[in-house]
Amino acid sequence: MEHITSTPTAKAPAERFTGDVYLNPIQTHSDPARLVASLVRFTPGARTNWHSHVKGQTLYITDGIGLVAARDGSVALATAGQTVTCPAGEEHWHGATDTTLMAHIAMLVGDENGDGTTWLEPVTDEQYAAALKSGDR
Ligand code: MN
Repeated sequence: MEHITSTPTAKAPAERFTGDVYLNPIQTHSDPARLVASLVRFTPGARTNWHSHVKGQTLYITDGIGLVAARDGSVALATAGQTVTCPAGEEHWHGATDTTLMAHIAMLVGDENGDGTTWLEPVTDEQYAAALKSGDR
């Protein structure tokens, strides 16, 4: 057993995120479980780049109001206590709304090479504005 009493907060890298995003690792990729879990806090307007996860991802919203959007135009507007799942290989992004912060616990299972995330281009301001308008409730 290991009792981890605190983890440092890191600023998320600008090459993968737009705006101010802060990461606290909960579980880093390691054999045999390969679970990767992080608490991620997005300030208003902040979001990930487009990306996909080799085995999918589960997002549990812990605070605020967030957006999760996929290439097919589907958008989930998710609040604290809600869960959004992203299927394996689906290109998507997640972030805060323009007026409200969002925090989620992001959980995925990696593969033998690492966390299995493929990072893509930034979400444009136009894509972000469109998601804000169309998010489901
Ligand atoms: Mn994701």
